[in-house]
Amino acid sequence: MRLWYLALLLLLTSACNAAAPVQQSDLTATELRFVTANAEFTLLHEMGHLLINELQLPVLGREEDAADQLGFVGLFLLQGKQRDANFYAKLLDVADYWRLEWRLPKAPEEKVYSWDSHGLDAQRFYNIACLAYGSDPDKLEWIITATGLPDERAFYCPQEYQQVQHAVDWLAQHFRRPVGAPPGQRIQVLYDEPPRQLEHGADMLAKVRASGELEAVANKASDTFALPRPLTLRLTTCGSPDAWYNTQSGELTLCYERLEHFRQLAAQLPKVRPPQTP
Ligand SMILES: [Zn+2]
Repeated sequence: MRLWYLALLLLLTSACNAAAPVQQSDLTATELRFVTANAEFTLLHEMGHLLINELQLPVLGREEDAADQLGFVGLFLLQGKQRDANFYAKLLDVADYWRLEWRLPKAPEEKVYSWDSHGLDAQRFYNIACLAYGSDPDKLEWIITATGLPDERAFYCPQEYQQVQHAVDWLAQHFRRPVGAPPGQRIQVLYDEPPRQLEHGADMLAKVRASGELEAVANKASDTFALPRPLTLRLTTCGSPDAWYNTQSGELTLCYERLEHFRQLAAQLPKVRPPQTP
């Protein structure tokens, strides 16, 4: 199956494959993979919002949950090698992010409350863990142990995953641009100046830009779907580790601070990692 997600190629793949930047930025390979996986997931989540709004996709339940599901399945569609140990480690990185975020002491303005449109961090952690396990339950029973996913939830995870997969298949069938259709509106990628205080992650940011992967993502999305207007993906300084899609302006913002936030959280990853070989 080919969706626009296919084009959301690994943002920092080149950084992952290069040994030198790891030494320069003092990131271990595990930490860099964590940053990469979560940057991808964030972008895919926001692309989910973009598609929901621009294509007027029908959404049952909360849009934030739908965007998480689109983001999660997007990771699968990106990778194409689901039975790869590194891929499952990345899925776990995304789940681990939400676990770390859940446990992180937060200022009142940063807390997620029960009335919020987003799920609680703990819920997003279990949702991702459930979809990861449900994607291949015969091979991935270890994810139950690694994440502490209770049996009561785990039992239904294969069904949950199939339901998400079915929805994405439906999306592909109904919203794909016809082959041979004339060129349409496109998503352009803009990079604002990175903040100086992110000096530590400068190598990483430079590699993101140099890789051209964001442009590839935007181009693939533009080629795959009949977008109703010109859209923008902007990397910028926001003052907080955020990302969002502005439905009015048609601009998807990915904050440099969010990448830095992932980098900082990566240092708190559990010392004992679960087995990465299914
Ligand atoms: Zn969202």
